[in-house]
Amino acid sequence: MLGLMQDHPLLISTLLQHAATNHAKTGILSLDRDASGASLGTVTHTNYAELAKRAAKLANALDRLGIQRGDRIGTLAWNDQRHFELYYAISGIGAICHTLNPRLFPEQLTYIIRHAEDRWIFVDPTILLALEKIFDGIKDVPAGIVIMADRVPETKLAGQIQLLAYDDLIAAEADTYDWPIFDENTASSLCYTSGTTGNSKGVLYSHRSTILHTWAIASAEAIAMHRGTTLLPIVPMFHANAWGTIYAATMTGTTLAMPGPRLDGQSLYELITSSNTNYIGGVPTIWMGLLEYLRKSGNKLPAGMRGIAGGSALPPALSEAFWKEQGLRIDHGWGMTELSPVGAYNMPAKPLTQMSDDEIIAGTAKQGRPPYGVALKIIDDDGNELPRDGKAVGELVVRGSWVTSGYYKDDEANKTAFTHDGWFRTGDVSTIDEDGFIELVDRVKDLIKTGGEWISSIDLENLALTIPGIREAAAIPARHKKWDERPLIIAVRDEGAEIDADGVRDYLAKTLSKWMLPDAVIFVHELPHTATGKIMKRTLRDEYADYLEKHNLDQS
Ligand code: ADP
Repeated sequence: MLGLMQDHPLLISTLLQHAATNHAKTGILSLDRDASGASLGTVTHTNYAELAKRAAKLANALDRLGIQRGDRIGTLAWNDQRHFELYYAISGIGAICHTLNPRLFPEQLTYIIRHAEDRWIFVDPTILLALEKIFDGIKDVPAGIVIMADRVPETKLAGQIQLLAYDDLIAAEADTYDWPIFDENTASSLCYTSGTTGNSKGVLYSHRSTILHTWAIASAEAIAMHRGTTLLPIVPMFHANAWGTIYAATMTGTTLAMPGPRLDGQSLYELITSSNTNYIGGVPTIWMGLLEYLRKSGNKLPAGMRGIAGGSALPPALSEAFWKEQGLRIDHGWGMTELSPVGAYNMPAKPLTQMSDDEIIAGTAKQGRPPYGVALKIIDDDGNELPRDGKAVGELVVRGSWVTSGYYKDDEANKTAFTHDGWFRTGDVSTIDEDGFIELVDRVKDLIKTGGEWISSIDLENLALTIPGIREAAAIPARHKKWDERPLIIAVRDEGAEIDADGVRDYLAKTLSKWMLPDAVIFVHELPHTATGKIMKRTLRDEYADYLEKHNLDQS
């Protein structure tokens, strides 16, 4: 017997309609900027009622351009109001919002646009150059390009393709739209992995998966969003949907403080204080930049702030600095583009007032536990589930309502992406404790395998970051004749710091067994980062693979 309940499909258009009706006064706060992106020192507020009208105008314009259901529309944009409008208008009409990452290498960007067959591309004027550079390789793909501004700037694309200005495109359109009702399993958006460990692969989200994920991350098990939240998404909207925060904002009436293109510590601090931000989300590299600025300037974050770090492991040293110097407990989260992206969130086990500093800091080391809607387990090489005891280590696999069921048009990748019974293989190696908390050991590909044992690169890096004077560190393997691989540490020093390689080794030797100590510690001015702010281990591994041999270091 079926239940006698109404059946309304879970559609993204309903989120913005909900916000316009029930949260008409909250919306987006943005710093006003000049053409170069520099702050003018004032803030503009656009509320959800106005945003819904602008999204409706855009939807009418998309119809006029001839965009059909299922068409992919590329966006090359920062976290700002027009990008927000695109998120809702494109998905709302049944087309697919394909967020493109402007920081990818030109070849990757070309590959992705061609693979997705983007019909139109919307581009921020500050990113136009990236599109100009790859234009010859993609010019047969889109029907036209819309510049996200009030006018089309001077560009060498003029005369080669139809060019429109966003504000002109929507100006004359009606500000109401009859949002269509369709199957909630319809594709809504498309995001390619940033290819930290291989080629970019497309993850195609649905309206249903998006709404279910949104409920989970907005809940008190995760960000705990509500009308009083002002959230600064530093994680880009082109990277795994800004962790879902753009949708969760309209679901809960949260105010979004949009950072635009400037993500340096000072710009972020200016936005935080002028918008009364009380929650921020970003990768550890961004938190590091903010910390550096706060230390240098002596400024303090407003009281009562919360935030999340994810995308790569949150070093305990960073967590400690924010807690002790700024009174902010960074929540830790784990996710992947393939998971919409949130797979685990680390909420404190009890109120912070009932915990010691050490407990609070240690509590952030784990990535968290899954919200209802996704299930996690660890398996051995034969696919057997391993115990949830916080000790057994295995590959983390996942299934659930917002987990990919297969990469977009990529049969090759799909052959190995799942276990025989349909769990998605994350490629991460982890423990799970009896409370369901995961603690990542490493990516399978980043483990350092030495003489039949392995060393966690995350552990080595976290420890190196507790050394005074070390700003950033990457632990990677180098080939070794006898032990196959031996660890190296590539590190960046704080300005003026005098710590040397012996100092690092002596420090590590206090905690680590001898066989875990790096064979060499190499200082560089800067580490390479991926488009999403992660250290590019693949590049470093290639560069330093033969380091021991080249430098005649002992390999006996
Ligand atoms: P890419 O695979 O291109 O880097 P993603 O952002 O989807 O793009 O990366 C997901 C991966 O990032 C995870 O599989 C994991 O290895 C890593 N990751 C994400 N969050 C964390 C975290 N909190 N701690 C350690 N690693 C993390």
